[in-house]
Amino acid sequence: MKPNLLIVGNPTPRMMTQLTDRFVIHRLSEIDDPQAFLKANGDSIEGVATNGHDGVKPELMAALPNLKVVSCFGVGYDGIDATAAAERGIVVTHTPNVLNDDVANTAIMLMLAVSRRLVHDDAWVRSGKWKSQGSAPLTRSIENKPVGILGMGRIGQKIAEKLRAFNCDLAYHSRSEKADIPYRYYSDLTAMARDVDYLVVITPGGAATRHLVDRPVIDALGPEGTLINIARGSVVDEAALVKALEDGRLGGAGLDVFENEPDVPAALIAMDNVVLTPHVGSATVETRQAMGDLTVENLVRYFDEGKVTSAVPECAQLPAAR
Ligand code: NAP
Repeated sequence: MKPNLLIVGNPTPRMMTQLTDRFVIHRLSEIDDPQAFLKANGDSIEGVATNGHDGVKPELMAALPNLKVVSCFGVGYDGIDATAAAERGIVVTHTPNVLNDDVANTAIMLMLAVSRRLVHDDAWVRSGKWKSQGSAPLTRSIENKPVGILGMGRIGQKIAEKLRAFNCDLAYHSRSEKADIPYRYYSDLTAMARDVDYLVVITPGGAATRHLVDRPVIDALGPEGTLINIARGSVVDEAALVKALEDGRLGGAGLDVFENEPDVPAALIAMDNVVLTPHVGSATVETRQAMGDLTVENLVRYFDEGKVTSAVPECAQLPAAR
């Protein structure tokens, strides 16, 4: 008997092929009346496949009394109440590590794009200004610059490792100092922002990190400073960020994530010292395939062996995670 799996969001075609092999599939997006479906069939669902964006809403989790495992495509799982799941014995899994390189590359791509004015200079060529006005204005180097990383976890460490190739002077802020990390630790985020030219944000989202980057942090970074956010939109006070950029109190920003995706404030769209990407930190063919494979592996292993490969920390004590 194949277990019943509820799919939230849109898995890749490769994932769908793998999942269809092993599970009876129910796609939430294709169910006409989800409430009626859940009332009639909620108790048959043992697994959920979802992603970091859609998560699992509390009312959905409550409608699945026999749910055993939630597999999230993505390392960030702020859309899933993992503590509540663990209390019910439901193991939540995610896809750490396989995306570290590409997300770190996105951070560095944004740093370079803002500093070297990639989008501006591309437009300079396409619009004919190179011919009519000559060379584009000089830009700023990231070489040898002080960089502060907010969040020194798996991806933060990868960003630091890659920035060493640019001879950047590295510092970090996280909840605790790491014994094995060679970079300067700041227990005070505002103090770090004051001392660096680039602040790279790579913490989880959720209530605990909401608006960690607020007006005092942005003002400390200052008119020569650049904010890079590849974490979650919720970590930065977006209204304060927009105002600081408008007032010239912040030099520039590279943003992959926003408070109300896919809505991006019109003011940001109009600014040419800002580079915007549509939450594509991990969005390469190679990394998305690895994330999909791990998402499926967690589900298949759970039902075959009673074990998962990559449980979230809140579920680490559950038998399936040990
Ligand atoms: P991780 O290994 O768990 O690292 C998270 C880091 O954030 C840790 O250093 C942690 O500090 C720090 N942190 C957590 N809460 C904090 C707080 N309140 N104040 C200061 N620091 C705090 O996670 P990861 O694998 O590097 O991933 C990080 C996040 O990146 C994900 O959760 C996701 O939201 C985001 N992400 C975005 C994309 C994208 O497409 N843009 C792609 C992948 C991931 P401690 O070590 O002291 O606990």
